[in-house]
Amino acid sequence: MSDGILVINAGSSSSKFSVYINRQNGDLDLTCKGQIEGIGVDPTFVAKAPDGTILGEHRWHAHVDRTNLLSYLLGWIELHLGSAELKAAGHRVVHGGRHYSAPALVNELVLEVLENLVPLAPLHQPHNLAPIRSMAKLHPGLPQIACFDTAFHRSNGFLATAFALPRWLLDEGVQRYGFHGLSYEFIAYRMRQIAPGPAAGKVVVCHLGSGASMCAIDNGRSVASTMGFTALDGLPMGTRTGQLDAGVLLYLLQEKHMSADEIQRLLYHQSGLLGMSGISNDMRLLMSSGDPHAKEAVDFFIYRIGRELGSLAAAMGGLDAVVFTAGIGEHSAELRARVLRENAWLGLAVDNDANTRGEGCISPAGAVCSAWVIPTDEELMIAMHTRDVLKARAAAE
Ligand code: AMP
Repeated sequence: MSDGILVINAGSSSSKFSVYINRQNGDLDLTCKGQIEGIGVDPTFVAKAPDGTILGEHRWHAHVDRTNLLSYLLGWIELHLGSAELKAAGHRVVHGGRHYSAPALVNELVLEVLENLVPLAPLHQPHNLAPIRSMAKLHPGLPQIACFDTAFHRSNGFLATAFALPRWLLDEGVQRYGFHGLSYEFIAYRMRQIAPGPAAGKVVVCHLGSGASMCAIDNGRSVASTMGFTALDGLPMGTRTGQLDAGVLLYLLQEKHMSADEIQRLLYHQSGLLGMSGISNDMRLLMSSGDPHAKEAVDFFIYRIGRELGSLAAAMGGLDAVVFTAGIGEHSAELRARVLRENAWLGLAVDNDANTRGEGCISPAGAVCSAWVIPTDEELMIAMHTRDVLKARAAAE
């Protein structure tokens, strides 16, 4: 009998899921992925095969709580898996704090530690933890593994994580954590397979999606990243500001008399590409728009990538390769070409044909610093962690 692994990536109003079959030889085969949307209103469920064929759909016409939605999902998966048996659930958890540098098998104690981290990620952590609690009720024997967005960056040293704040704030955990760690870990893993030479060197990975950040990875280890205490810092994003002088917050509080909630909405939901352009947070739309504010937003995004490239190269003392990933990084040849051309001083260059084709190496042979497009797969990374924790647990028994 083969084993099933469920991966859950739960957000505030939607939950994404994937199901993998863990083969005897350790290979993980995706069998379906989908999502439940509209949580809290009239939820919808859809599950698709890897080729996009719809395997299951459902719509509720009333409020259904998360535990009942998870119960529906588990029932559907049981039917879908047939003779295979669900052996574990892996969860994306945004914050593992200072404690976790690797995935954790969840028990009551671990859940307590993770709940204590809610103030550090109030918009995400509660939604990540809710399905873990529900699953423990619905399927008490099922091992659950928490995989953290911060864990990959625990190798960052003091200088890369500190703020110049009084010690009492540093001591209580006000520091840079970095996020998108599961994506960076996956890219480091894939790079070792497809480009072992550059993977052993100094690499900057640009995760450019609706959330965007960059990470300096030296010989497979995260050294520094652009996101900080929260996922607000660094690059401008679809609707988030990215790096912002803390004095602007004082101005909003003191001169504009804005409340904390209003400021939170402004920084997370009304800024970034959307705020600057006044048009959209969708990079495709902005790049094809003739509006001068859309052009400024795109130019600013590319300018900030260049600034961070220089900064991260400095943090590593060099640069051997740059990788583009996530929605914008994987799909916009135009943006990649501009980043590579505008940062030629770092030894970057673009091979236009390779860049248009997309995946793999997109720099010309002999470039001082190579450039790559590598699709990320955070769900597969969670499934791999889950498989490995199960294996280690079986070996210890
Ligand atoms: P992600 O969060 O990784 O799913 O990325 C989503 C973002 O990728 C969207 O906001 C789109 O703006 C962007 N995107 C997807 N395809 C393209 C494309 N061909 N050109 C530019 N941006 C794209």
